[in-house]
Amino acid sequence: LKPPVVTIDGPGGAGKGTICKLLANKLGWHLLDSGAIYRVLAVAAMHHGIAADDEEALIPLASSLDVNFECPEDQESRVILEGEDVSHSIRTEEVGSMASKVASLPRIREALLRRQRAFNMEPGLVADGRDMGTVVFTEANAKIFLTASAEERAARRYNQLREKGHDVSIGALLADILARDERDTNRSVAPLVPAEDALVIDSTELSIEEVLEKAVHWVETKL
Ligand code: C5P
Repeated sequence: LKPPVVTIDGPGGAGKGTICKLLANKLGWHLLDSGAIYRVLAVAAMHHGIAADDEEALIPLASSLDVNFECPEDQESRVILEGEDVSHSIRTEEVGSMASKVASLPRIREALLRRQRAFNMEPGLVADGRDMGTVVFTEANAKIFLTASAEERAARRYNQLREKGHDVSIGALLADILARDERDTNRSVAPLVPAEDALVIDSTELSIEEVLEKAVHWVETKL
């Protein structure tokens, strides 16, 4: 019997990261940030001078990717690529955009499947991504699809970046979000769609607490 899994899928900026972390903490379970794996692969490709559409060169890179996730007690989790802390550098718009291009290649997704499934350990896993419930963990105990309007997601991202002192335009952020949605939704493998058995939560007009409450309630009815 495999340990239990909760999947949360949805477009970028809908609040998945925050909700997954809170839920994993509440349950005392492991957390898989699958987007970080695609982002790390994008950074590794950049380091090695490999283009986003060079599938032949990307496959061996994906299969041998030396990535580790560290969760020191009471500290922010860290993402380590080839011994180097890339937790911050993987979060740029440039890397996100490269990650979504790399993620549109079927054989790259295939090469990363086993690595993602290996996160399913006792006492359980909360998995954050685009295809956690539809491809990677189809047998998950509870599935959630968390979404929000593109305008709301752009506004949230804008506020986050402004708080960190970055000077950004909301129009450029919205354009980037729409382009990424388009790529994630229309790709041939693992397109961004809710699993048939997923609870869909639209967070456009909800607070983090309200989303968490809905998620916890859904998970409790499924475990
Ligand atoms: O969620 P995040 O923005 O970190 O993901 C970066 C990119 O990786 C997404 O735009 C998406 O194209 C890709 N991704 C994916 N499947 C996942 C997680 C992320 O295709 N399970």
